[in-house]
Amino acid sequence: MKPVFADTDEMAVNRERQKARQLRQSQWWKRQLARGRCHYCGRSFPPDQLTMDHIVPMARGGKSKKGNTVPACKECNNNKKYMLPIEWEAYMASLTENDAQSPGGGSGVSKEKRRG
Ligand SMILES: [Zn+2]
Repeated sequence: MKPVFADTDEMAVNRERQKARQLRQSQWWKRQLARGRCHYCGRSFPPDQLTMDHIVPMARGGKSKKGNTVPACKECNNNKKYMLPIEWEAYMASLTENDAQSPGGGSGVSKEKRRG
């Protein structure tokens, strides 16, 4: 049983899914894949191992556009799907901790900024 107000959401999600399909065909997306790098864990993968992930999920009103879609490895994509947002944040934090192995606990998080 679904609440009535979910109907318009579903329509919006379907629309974004279609846009995502088109975006996957674009040169821009192919360039993203060609980089062969997962946006989340930063590891390298062959392009066919990367999937399109929405930073803001479509179900939450996220759009299928350049600023909101990133290449993600299947592991990160699956993890993101099944985790609660708060769990995902903890996962991301653990990845960045592993990244900067500085004794003494530096708090300087200097990651590349992304601009859409
Ligand atoms: Zn990953």
